[in-house]
Parts: sequence; C-alpha cells; structure tokens
Amino acid sequence: MEKIKTLIIGSGPAGYTAAIYLSRANMAPVLYEGIQPGGQLTTTTLIENWPGYAEGIDANELMASMRKQAENLGAELRGGSITKVDLSARPFRVEAEGGVEIEAESLIIATGASAKYLGLESELKFRGQGVSACATCDGFFYRKRDVAVVGGGDTACEEATYLASLCRQVYMIVRKPFLRASQAMQQRVFDTPNIEVLFEHNTAEVLGDEMGVTGVKVRKTDGTERVLDVAGFFLAIGHHPNTDLFEGQLELDEEGYIRVEPGTSKTSVEGVFAAGDVKDPHYRQAIAAAGSGCMAALDCERFLRK
Ligand code: NDP
Repeated sequence: MEKIKTLIIGSGPAGYTAAIYLSRANMAPVLYEGIQPGGQLTTTTLIENWPGYAEGIDANELMASMRKQAENLGAELRGGSITKVDLSARPFRVEAEGGVEIEAESLIIATGASAKYLGLESELKFRGQGVSACATCDGFFYRKRDVAVVGGGDTACEEATYLASLCRQVYMIVRKPFLRASQAMQQRVFDTPNIEVLFEHNTAEVLGDEMGVTGVKVRKTDGTERVLDVAGFFLAIGHHPNTDLFEGQLELDEEGYIRVEPGTSKTSVEGVFAAGDVKDPHYRQAIAAAGSGCMAALDCERFLRK
C-alpha cells in the first residue's frame, strides 16, 4: 500500500493549481489526471479571458503549460482515474486504475463537471466545429453571424443574451411552452430584439460540412420542421458534477455538487477539500477554478501542518 500526504484528483485548472501550490509547500502531491487530461478547457480553442495574455492563448497550450509548471515544481502526475475512495477514516484509502492502492492523509477533489449534450450523432460529429457547450468561451468566434442556443434555464438565457451582444441573430430552442429561467432572466431575453425563442421545439439534427456547422433542423411538437441557418450551436441544458465516486461519503447539494464551508474549500469530511467546477454550479470559469485550486491547496497545507 502506497502512502502519500496529498492526493489530487483532476487535471483542470483547479487540480493543476493545487498541485503547483502544494509542490512549492513541499507536500509532494500526487495528481491523477483522469480520462481527459487538461479538463473541459481542452474541448475549446482560443481563450481570450485568461488574464495575462493580451492576444489570448490556445486552451490546450495553456493547460499543457500549467501541467508542465506543476511537474517542474515537483508534483507527481499520473495518467488514469481513481476508481474507488473510502473517506470513512484517515488516512483515506483510495484505489486507482490498474488496482493501485493508496493511503492519502489528505485529498483534493477537482474532478470538474461535464456539460450535458443531447446525444445526437450529428452533434457529436461537429463538437468543437460549431457545437459548443460554452458561449463565454466560444461565442466570440460567431460575431455578426447567426447562432442557436438549446435550453430554457438561466444558463441558456444568460448565454443567449451574451451571444446576442455579439451575433446577428440568436435562436433559443426550448422544448417546453415556457422558459424555466428566473423572471428577470426571461425578461432580459424578451427585451433583446435579436433573440427569437422557439417554444416547443426540439433539435432533430445538426447540419454541416467539412468547415463545420451550417444549420440546425428543428422540429416543433406539432411535427412541423424548420431549418435554422446558423454557424454556431450552443448547448445550455445543464451540467452534471463528476461526483459519483463520493456519493454517500461527502455532503452534496441537490444537484450533486460538493458542499463546501462558505469561503473555504473544506468539505463535510475533515482533510478532504474541493476545488473548481465540482463544487461550483454558478461561475464555471477556468480562472475561478484556478483560484479555488489555490484555496484548496492552502487549506490542505494548513491541515497537514496541524
Ligand atoms: P437548468 O436545469 O435550470 O435548465 C436546463 C434547461 O435545459 C431547461 O430549460 C431544460 O428544459 C432544458 N433541457 C434539459 N435537458 C434537455 C434536453 N435533453 N433537450 C432539450 N432541452 C433540455 O440548468 P441551468 O444550467 O440553466 O441552471 C443550473 C442552475 O444554475 C439553476 O439553478 C440556475 O438557476 C442556476 N443559474 C443561475 C444563474 C444566475 O442566477 N445568473 C445563471 C446560470 C445558472 P425543461 O425546462 O423542459 O426541463
């Protein structure tokens, strides 16, 4: 059984930032990168809202550089996923892919969240080529063009109004005859002249060619079909936090996000800390995740020195 001081699970901005801080504090962190090293950011292209890069930075380059920084400072980065955790006693017992068994004095969970997709074959085909689940990340590429947003919640309304400030026309594809979003958000949508809400519509197919998305075929509940000529297709139908491993062991909210003590990264189990989207249903930004990775590392370091 391998014994370590700190185990970090997850390799997005939260996980790597925690690794950077803990390495500098001589805590010899071990980080498991999971199935998507670099996290959600690696599904996008240019990032223009990461401070410090006046011209923007390629998302994969940014994550590769964060990874290298953590490694250079002494973090041990391992491929593969954690398959089992037992948080009932300290040290925590953890199993990694391949049957590796670890005892960790402390744990930082930075497993992120995954955007929900509709599950259409055509949607998968054009992912990253016009299909996106993040308007803040990718909206800028569709300036002065037409786009569609799927969903009727607060996120969809927020993304639609954001896109409307950049794009020529925004269609909202809403499966119900009403929006689920708060009144204030709904009003913002209805007050925006270049948003058209298509109630009782579902997406039948995303259309495109070798250059990417060229349109979307939508179907109304009465069976009528229409093709929207859009260059961007944005999903805003919710996220699910990657917390299956911790169910029943850590306090989660109704949607499965890890609950932390306000203003800290401390979870309901002493010695277990959470950072990034796995505990953040609201902001979901890389820079916020990195900041919370730093908080988790500092909380963890204090815990270990106690
Ligand atoms: P929600 O779960 O609130 O909304 C999801 C939307 O997507 C609903 O309209 C839902 O339709 C629709 N949807 C779900 N699955 C499908 C599908 N397969 N096909 C078509 N449509 C689908 O998620 P949000 O991300 O919008 O919000 C999550 C939480 O975050 C909420 O509590 C929200 O209030 C909060 N939030 C708050 C913000 C703010 O205050 N500024 C900003 C963003 C989020 P249906 O209604 O039919 O189920």
